Amino acid sequence: RVDRADESYFESYGYFDIHRTMISDKVRMDAYQRALECNPSLIKGASVLDVGCGTGILSMFAARGGAAQVIAVEGSKRMAEHAHSIVAENRLDSASGGPITVVSARMEDIASLPVAQVDVIVSEWMGYALFFECMLDSVVLARDRWLKPGGAMLPDLASIYMAAAGAGALDLDFWDNVYDFVYRPVKSLLLDASLKDAIVAQVDARHLVTAPCCLRSFDLATMSAADADFTTDFVLEAAASETGPAAECHALVLWFDTEFSGRFCKEQPAVLSTSPHSTQTHWAQTILTLRQPIALQAPAEAGLAAAGAGPADAAAAALRGRISFGRSDKHRCLDISLECQAF
Ligand code: SAH
Repeated sequence: RVDRADESYFESYGYFDIHRTMISDKVRMDAYQRALECNPSLIKGASVLDVGCGTGILSMFAARGGAAQVIAVEGSKRMAEHAHSIVAENRLDSASGGPITVVSARMEDIASLPVAQVDVIVSEWMGYALFFECMLDSVVLARDRWLKPGGAMLPDLASIYMAAAGAGALDLDFWDNVYDFVYRPVKSLLLDASLKDAIVAQVDARHLVTAPCCLRSFDLATMSAADADFTTDFVLEAAASETGPAAECHALVLWFDTEFSGRFCKEQPAVLSTSPHSTQTHWAQTILTLRQPIALQAPAEAGLAAAGAGPADAAAAALRGRISFGRSDKHRCLDISLECQAF
C-alpha cells in the first residue's frame, strides 16, 4: 500500500535543514539520549540497529551508552555519506576501533548485516499525527527480520490522542484585518483548504475545549504495519468551565506520545510527548477542521441550559464520533476521515 517509488522522500532527507530541525528539538533529543545513554543494563555491550540514522546522532548516543556494535542504516545516499564522515570524525567508526558501521541502503534492500540479529532496534520514525510518512513500515520490517526474539524496541510504545479546540486553534483571525484592509477572502480560502488537508501547527493548550481522549495505543514490539490503518469511535467530554458560555468547537486536534518504557529501559524510562500541554516539538499538532462548529458545555451548565438559560440552549456536553486512519497509497500520506456530532 505504501508508495515504493520513494526517490523524493529519501531526497528530502539528503539536506541538513531537516536534520537541524530534528537535532534542535530538545524534547525529542532528550528522550532518545536518556533511553540510549542512561540504561546501561539494556545498551552496555549490546548490538543496536539504528533504522534511518540520518546524521548518525542516535547511533552515537548508543555508542556513548556503551553499545558493542551499532549498525546505522540510512536510505538517503547523500546523508549516509555525511553520517559516515561525522561518525569517523568522532572516532566512533569501526576503522577507528569504534562500534558504529554506517550502511548506505534502504532497510528493505538489506540482505545481510555484520551480525545475524541485534539486541536493540532504535529508530525515530514518527511523522505528523504519528503515522505520516509511513516510515513505521520499515521499522516493523526491520524488527521482524533483524531483532532477536525478545529484543528491545526504542521507543516501544506509541499512543495517538485527540481533543477538540475552539476557533483560536486555527489562528485565522490574523486575516480579519490587515492594516485596516479586509482579507476575509483569504480566511475563507484557508478555511476551505483546511477541510481537505489537515493543518500542522502548534496549538496552545488554552484553545482546547475538551479533555483529551486516547484514540489508540500501539506496542512496537508486537504490532504489524497494518495496525496503523484503524477506525475507532470516540467521545470527547466538554472541559468543565466555571461559568463561561458554551465553547464553540471548530476543530479536532491530534498529537502523539511515544514511550521508552520500563519494559526495556529499566534504569531510566523516558516519554516523548507532543501534547499541546507539554513543551512544543517540531511535530507540533495536527488540526482537523470541522465543517460546522459545534457548541459544547460541561454537564452542570448544560443542565442549566436545558432549563432555558439563554443562548447556550443548543450546547451539548460531549462530542461523539468515529475516526479512521489509513496509510495512503500515494506519497507516504495519511488519509484521515472523521465524522462527529454533538451528544
Ligand atoms: N535518526 C535520525 C534521523 C531521523 S529522520 C535522527 O534521529 O536525527 C528519519 C531518517 O530515516 C531519514 O534520514 C530517512 O532518510 C531515513 N529512512 C526512512 N526510511 C528508511 C528506510 N526504509 N531505510 C533506511 N533509511 C530510512
